[in-house]
Formats: sequence, structure tokens, C-alpha cells
Amino acid sequence: MAVAAKDTAGSAAGTKAVTAAKAAVKKAPAPKKVVVAPKKATAAVKGAAPATTVVKPSRDESRTALVRRARRINRELAEVYPYAHPELDFENPFQLVVATVLSAQTTDLRVNQTTPALFAKYPTPEDLAAANPEEVEEILRPCGFFRAKTKSVIGLSKALVEEFGGEVPGRLEDLVKLPGVGRKTAFVVLGNAFGRPGITVDTHFQRLVRRWQWTDETDPDKIEAAVGALFPKSDWTDLSHHVIWHGRRICHARKPACGACPIAPLCPAYGEGETDPEKAKKLLKYEKGGLPGQRLKPPQAYLDAGGRPAPPLGAA
Ligand code: SF4
Repeated sequence: MAVAAKDTAGSAAGTKAVTAAKAAVKKAPAPKKVVVAPKKATAAVKGAAPATTVVKPSRDESRTALVRRARRINRELAEVYPYAHPELDFENPFQLVVATVLSAQTTDLRVNQTTPALFAKYPTPEDLAAANPEEVEEILRPCGFFRAKTKSVIGLSKALVEEFGGEVPGRLEDLVKLPGVGRKTAFVVLGNAFGRPGITVDTHFQRLVRRWQWTDETDPDKIEAAVGALFPKSDWTDLSHHVIWHGRRICHARKPACGACPIAPLCPAYGEGETDPEKAKKLLKYEKGGLPGQRLKPPQAYLDAGGRPAPPLGAA
């Protein structure tokens, strides 16, 4: 068992869980000692603290304590997912905005399997604006809601051609005027194609920030504002990736893998899912990013000529 976990167990001895909440926050082990497990994923699993050692932020957690805890969670996730990035494949802002619109109600993997054919046939907004809808529908069929999505991507291509000279605009107020583009899509595009900070409040983000008691809000715009106030703007885009990656791989909607979770000691919802480490390990989903707890190998597309992670498209 990790040293810090023993420490915590010792300090908790003879102390009632409820009344110890505040003290537990103060005596909480440094999360790095408990959870950082660069060697392999199972190290994080072993380090995940049992229920009695988990910090349970009290309902009256101070604003300062909340900010500190939120930022610690983000720092831990940054170590687990150092190369977190949008999982949609794209080569330019046009492809990103189209792929993001297509990703509604389906997986990024499915979109990535679909867009190569779409962009091979319609590489520019002009091409897609002039497309035969029935032919586009056939390509988009695997993404679900293919008629509505065809309408959206053709409509947004027309708007790009007619109102923005065939270029994706780099301003929120312009992006949200495009058909099928809401604030969530706009922030994905701004953050990842233009290097402008934005918080992406998707279904994973909403679920996780509520589990972490970062906010009680349920409206995405209010969640965005509440969470944005906990972090410097420069953290927003990476924070969104970290949270979404964690939601996809470990903190699932139905069965969060609490026993294999590297931020269990900081999570008030620990125990909502499987806490047995061995059973929890079986719930992890890796998709294309490798194992949590490992330094993930960045996809080639995100490396620059020197082998370092490339800056976002459009960044200076
Ligand atoms: S609910 Fe469980 S899996 Fe999700 S962050 Fe908390 S401890 Fe981790």
C-alpha cells in the first residue's frame, strides 16, 4: 500500500468520517505520493485509496479549498494524460468544425472512420456547399442522424462561403451563427484550431464536474462560467481535454472505475463506482490513447518536426 495511504489511514483511526471531513482535507496526503504512477497503470490502481482515506469535501468547503482541489485534480490528470487532445482527426479548422458537428450523438471513433471519405470528396467549404445532399447522406449514414447532419454540414459550408469568404471564423460570436454550431462546438474549434482558450462542456465534462462538486449548475453555459472561474483562462482548453479523457477512460457514466482512479483521494464521489481495484481495472477503457498512468504516446499528427507535440493549428 502506498505510504501516503497508510498515513491517512493512521490519521483517520478513531475518527468519525463525517466529523473528520474538514480535518481530512487538511491532512490529505499529497496526491502525487498516492497516485502518480508513471510506470504502469496498475500502480495507479494500487495507489487508489480505500474509502476511509478519501477526502470528502464538506458541503461548506471554502472557495479557496475548492479552487485548490480543482487545480490539483487538473494537475493530476495532466500527468496521467499528458498528451490529451481532441480525439477527432482533422487537418484544418474546416475539417474540425465539420467533424465536431458530426460527433453529436456518436463516438469520435465513428466520426474518424467517416470523415476521410467526406473530406476526400469535398475538401473545401465550397465543395461541400455545392454537394448533392443525397450523396453526402450516404457518406454520413454511419454517424447516425445523417439527414440532419448532412443539412448542418452543407448549411455551415454555405454560410462559410457566403459570409466568411470560405474561411472558418476565429470568433465565438461568428462561429455560433453557423448552422449546427453551438457554444460547445465553437469552443472546440477556438481552442484547438485557433489556440484560444475555451471550455468544452460536453456530457463527460458535465458529469465529472458535478461528481467533483466543482459546481451544482446543470445548464452548460452556467457550468462553463462556474468552472472557468476556478482556473486561469490559459488552462481552459487543456482542462477540457483532461476531464473529457478521464470521463471516457475511467470515470464512466454508469460504472466509474473508482478503484483504479488516480484522483480518488480528491474525489467526493469516490465509491459511486467499483472500488475493488481488480474489478475496477476491468472497467477501464483505453480506446486510442494507451494506458492511464503511462506517458501516452502522442499520435504522429500532433508531433512537430522535432518530435514534440505540435502547437494547435492556427496558433502563432
Ligand atoms: S467518481 Fe470514481 S472514477 Fe470518477 S473521479 Fe471519482 S473516484 Fe474517480
